[in-house]
Amino acid sequence: MPFRADALISIVVPAFNEGEAILGTLQTLERVLGSNRGFRWEFVVVNDGSSDDTVECARSFAPVQATLVVVDLSRNFGKEAALSAGLDASTGDAVIPMDADLQDPPELVSRMLALWEEGAEVILAKRSDRSSDGWLKRVSAERFYRLINVVSDVVIPENVGDFRLMDRSVVDVVRALPENRRFMKGLFAWAGFRTAVVDYVRPERSAGQTKFNAVRLLNLAIEGFTSFSNAPLRVATFLGAATAFSAFAYGAFIVVRTLVFGTDLPGYASLISVMLFLSGMQLLALGVIGEYVGRTYLEAKRRPAFVIRKVWRSVPTNADE
Ligand code: UDP
Ligand code: MG
Repeated sequence: MPFRADALISIVVPAFNEGEAILGTLQTLERVLGSNRGFRWEFVVVNDGSSDDTVECARSFAPVQATLVVVDLSRNFGKEAALSAGLDASTGDAVIPMDADLQDPPELVSRMLALWEEGAEVILAKRSDRSSDGWLKRVSAERFYRLINVVSDVVIPENVGDFRLMDRSVVDVVRALPENRRFMKGLFAWAGFRTAVVDYVRPERSAGQTKFNAVRLLNLAIEGFTSFSNAPLRVATFLGAATAFSAFAYGAFIVVRTLVFGTDLPGYASLISVMLFLSGMQLLALGVIGEYVGRTYLEAKRRPAFVIRKVWRSVPTNADE
């Protein structure tokens, strides 16, 4: 059983320009989580290069029971990197990543803890309803998971975000993974372990605005695909083979037709369209290969996923209660 009396639970909160939301979020977290008896709490806020007063707001939080750790990254590295930094800084027996906007309801944590005590090592929070997301995000997310799970080596659960409880053993595995371009949902899924699921309805953002526009989401999707599957490369191979075969068949057809019916004036338009189609496919295949070469290049440089400017740790004002 992973559960110990007086277990320490780390809440990791990546925050990018969350000055409006972060203090309220931390206060709500301490109030709601405090009702779970027999646990100690650690809040790890990772400031992901905010240009507003996120750090000051986070540091102004004076926890009564919890320990507060504020990790300040040197610039915006993106949510995936911020989460990695948070996992590195956390010391809990279990770790729960949560968004800074209270879209991951802290009320769910008591159910997660119960399952953890029953022996689950990963407890996923699954959105039973995505009505708080826009139409486009809902549809594209659904397509993305459908597709990636066809081609990926590990199953990445649908409608599950980064909000989940992970036992220390899981966190250590994810932290030890060597890649520095990190698609966290995929890495978490890759790690495996005994998994349980709790359902919830995702509420609206408590304050501020979403930090993910369409371009960022598309980039994240491509990142996810290329880190967890070689299928796009294989698709390029199949497409190439199929085209080569049809070209061959068409060539044979022309030869036979010429032999049987004699020559006629060949179509210039069809030639051009075939040429355009083929060059388009070549460019596409090159792009796909380039995507992977690029990844290999970025990994080969071995640059860290994030850079930390400073870390603050504060003890609770009323530590021995
Ligand atoms: N976030 C981050 N770095 C970024 C973008 C977002 O740390 O570059 C954090 C953000 O502060 C929030 C979480 O990731 O805590 C989720 O972002 P958001 O709520 O904007 O995404 P959504 O809920 O709309 O998908
Ligand atoms: Mg959000």
